[in-house]
Formats: sequence, C-alpha cells, structure tokens
Amino acid sequence: MTLRRLALLGSTGSIGTSTLDVVRAHPDRLSVATLAGGRNRELLLAQAEAFRPRCISVGLKDDADWLRSRLSYTPELNWGPEGLLACALHPDADTVVAAIVGSAGLASTEAALRAGRRVCVANKESLVVGGALMHAAALAGGGELLPVDSEHAALHQLLEGREPASIREVRITASGGPFRDWPLARIQAATVEEALNHPTWKMGPKITIDSATLMNKGLEVIEAAVLFDLPVEQIAVTVHPQSQVHAMVGFRDGTYQLQVCANDMKLPIQYALLYPEAQPGPVPPYAWDAARAWTFEPPDLARFPCLALAFQALREGGTAPAILNAANEVAVAAFLSRRIGFWEIQACDRAALEALPASPLTSLAQVLDADAAARRHAEGWVASRP
Ligand code: NAD
Ligand code: MG
Repeated sequence: MTLRRLALLGSTGSIGTSTLDVVRAHPDRLSVATLAGGRNRELLLAQAEAFRPRCISVGLKDDADWLRSRLSYTPELNWGPEGLLACALHPDADTVVAAIVGSAGLASTEAALRAGRRVCVANKESLVVGGALMHAAALAGGGELLPVDSEHAALHQLLEGREPASIREVRITASGGPFRDWPLARIQAATVEEALNHPTWKMGPKITIDSATLMNKGLEVIEAAVLFDLPVEQIAVTVHPQSQVHAMVGFRDGTYQLQVCANDMKLPIQYALLYPEAQPGPVPPYAWDAARAWTFEPPDLARFPCLALAFQALREGGTAPAILNAANEVAVAAFLSRRIGFWEIQACDRAALEALPASPLTSLAQVLDADAAARRHAEGWVASRP
C-alpha cells in the first residue's frame, strides 16, 4: 500500500474541501504535507490545525503573519505565487492536487510535473493554457498527469487499455446549466444570482458562471484534447441535464461505452488520488433500484456561443486557447462584480480571440505573455463599456 503525501493547492475551495474529505476517509493511504489557499485564512487555519501540514501558503504576507500568530505549531509559512510553488515542490509531498482556479495555477502545475510529481489536475485552465507544454514537462521530469474533472476522470477510465485506432470519438456531457431551456432573450438579460444557481453541481463561483455560459464545457473540450492527445474532430459534447453519465467513448463500429456515477466530485478526486488502486467510494454505489429517467440533447451554439468559441480556439491551436481563457477569466470576474452583463461575457471573449493573433506554443514564458496580453485586451474591452 502506498501512502501518498499531498500538496493541496486551493485547499479552501470547493475541490480543496472535498479533497480533504477524501483524505479523512483514507487515513492509511493519504496524508497532507502542504496546504495552499488564497484569502480564506480562517478556514486555512482550521485545516492546518486538523492536518498539521509541514508547509502552508496563503495569498498575502499579512495573512501569513496572521496565521503564524495563531497556529499551535510552527510550519513553514509562505505567501503569493512563490509560496504556491514552495508548497507544490515541497520535498515532503509526492502528489500535488491542483485545485486553484484560473491560469494562476499554470506555473505550479507545470513545475510539479517537471519535478516528477503525480499531479491530480482539477485546475482545467492550466491544461487549456499550457496545452502540450504540460506533457513535455511531465516527460522531462517523470511527472504523471491525472484528471480530476469528472468528465475527464470518466474518459481516463473508459480509454484505459484501448487501442487509439479503435476510437471514433469521445463525448463529454454537460448539464446545460441553469439556462439550458431559457429562450435567448432571457439568457441575454440573466442576472448574477440566476447564473450562480447551478442545477446539479455545487462549485466555486468562476466555474459556476462558466457552466451557465457553457464555457466550462468549451474549456473541457480543450482539456480533453490536451489530456488524451485527440484532434478537435474526435471530441463532442452532449447535453445531459441529470449529470449521471459523465462521458462516452464511441468506437469505430458505432457502439458506445458510457461512464456512470453520482454527481459527487469526491468520486473523481479519489479516483485520481488512489489510481490505479480501487477502494470503496465516498458515496454508496450507484442506486439502480430507483427509477430513473435520463435525457440527452445536442447543445445549442446560438444560445451558448462560448462553446463554439472554445472549438474555434482549439482549431486555431497554439496560444489561441490561452487567449480565450484569459479573456474569459477577466469577463467572468467583471460579470460577478456587475461591471458587465451576462451576454457581454461571450462578446468580450470573442473580441479577444478575434483581435489577438495566436502563435505556436513554445514555452511557458510565451504562454504567460499571451495570457497577459489577452487580460489587457479584455480589461480594455470591459472598461470601454458604457
Ligand atoms: P473555488 O473558487 O471554490 O476554490 C479555489 C481555491 O483556490 C480556493 O482555495 C482559493 O483560495 C484558491 N486560489 C484562487 N486563486 C489563488 C491564487 N492565485 N493563489 C493561491 N490560491 C488561490 O474553486 P473550485 O470550484 O474548487 O475550482 C477549482 C478548480 O477546479 C477550477 O479550475 C475549476 O474549474 C476546477 N473544477 C472544479 C469543480 C467543482 O466541482 N468545484 C469540478 C471540476 C473542475
Ligand atoms: Mg467537469
């Protein structure tokens, strides 16, 4: 039995707290070596006292000082992007859970792969932005990339041991979000409260807005292309409001295999942490004795143009996904702070993708430049709104 020692980046978030629940359920297999969070210092303090990690990082120096003065023991305390890296690369940790939000997670994911760690990636933005550079880092350092996103953990399970030539397509499902059956005019005028009201998943605010625009599914299409090295033509999306089927693989002969489980993120988190070992799950096995009705429908790209933008960026390749992702991070933050309306998210994303030329991926520094340029473009776009 392997004891995995985790570096948990983003411990105070939705994925972070679910990860700690999984650790509590497997104390003989999982332990916490380092914890990193952003601004929620009270929760970080409670987590630190419960798991006593050797190293902690927080967003700001003031919060690190605040923690130091209250902790009952003396761990290493860091802050900011360097603190995040110190937690990711700490010698006491062998497995990194990348659960911070946005391209802010790119450098730590890349560095951990390069340092030979197992990296369980929830932070889909780092894969969207870093693309093939992530595999290059893993190859260079002996790191291992395992998806935590539910659709991609499902695909990992479905594709294991399969001949690539036998596969016709992979298909990820989308709940459709809170506006799935709304007419266009109503979607265009959606409020922050309406967009935050997700029907099937309880998640952090950024991914919840991305689920309402379907940009989350768009990012996941790019994430699937990166993780499984698939061309855009082999990736598709089906809307499935019940969120019980998470992904499907279609074979050359026209048949499909589906992965089914409860919509609880602790399942894919545990899958990635313990892989290839299978242990009793954090929720009861799927309850087939209850009556169920599942529905499937194609996505409507006219009402959810963000999904089309993601396919466009994937087709363009290179830094195009990084440009789209950065603009989207700015647009979602502007929507959440009520500076732009819901429909302007897709307009801001489209404007950046069309204005900024994409170039082939060469290095982390170049991708970070593309990310910064797209942020500047989107911030200018938001500032120019009436
Ligand atoms: P969240 O907002 O709930 O949590 C984000 C965490 O990251 C918090 O601990 C926050 O303090 C920390 N953080 C944010 N920016 C940081 C920074 N610059 N430095 C250090 N820490 C920082 O978000 P979440 O819902 O847990 O999502 C995390 C990631 O997982 C996202 O990329 C999301 O797309 C992905 N994901 C989430 C879910 C889900 O169910 N929540 C499902 C699939 C994928
Ligand atoms: Mg997902």
